[in-house]
Amino acid sequence: MSTTLSLFRLNVGFIVHQTAGYSREFPFEIDKISTDEDLEFYDLLGVVTVSRTTEGLLLQFKGQAQTKAECGLCLEKFDQPLSLDFIEMFTFPSHADKDTELVLPEDLNIDLFPLIREYLYLDIPINPTCKPNCKGLCPVCGENLNQTTCNHNEEPNDPRLSVLKSLLDDESS
Ligand SMILES: [Zn+2]
Ligand SMILES: [Zn+2]
Repeated sequence: MSTTLSLFRLNVGFIVHQTAGYSREFPFEIDKISTDEDLEFYDLLGVVTVSRTTEGLLLQFKGQAQTKAECGLCLEKFDQPLSLDFIEMFTFPSHADKDTELVLPEDLNIDLFPLIREYLYLDIPINPTCKPNCKGLCPVCGENLNQTTCNHNEEPNDPRLSVLKSLLDDESS
């Protein structure tokens, strides 16, 4: 049996009352989520497996999403794929001994949204590129070299390079 998470609140009351070792999968599919930072994640698809342990509940996420990114080379907007692959432990309040631990809320409703958002953020590359072999922009005329060719990529004709080359030749001779 599976349940699609329509919202990010997961009621885990019935899992808490199972014995350690019990686990249950919750597939989720979410069109779009917006964040405060003007960033949108969309096409979220995955599954969260909730396992009852002696210490609390273990949540294991496996999934994917996308966000709009701008290529650092050609400056085009593109769909940046993101992966959602992480494990978090929600400890029973009676077992929690550190402030840093995630503790199961009293009402046994876990808000998954902050977790999902945080891990998607972490997966955004610092320098996104639209594809591995993006040709970028021509440094002379600014044309997107993925879409067009200009006459500026024949490097030997660059006068600055010729000057530099002759200087180097002088030095080595
Ligand atoms: Zn690009
Ligand atoms: Zn050019």
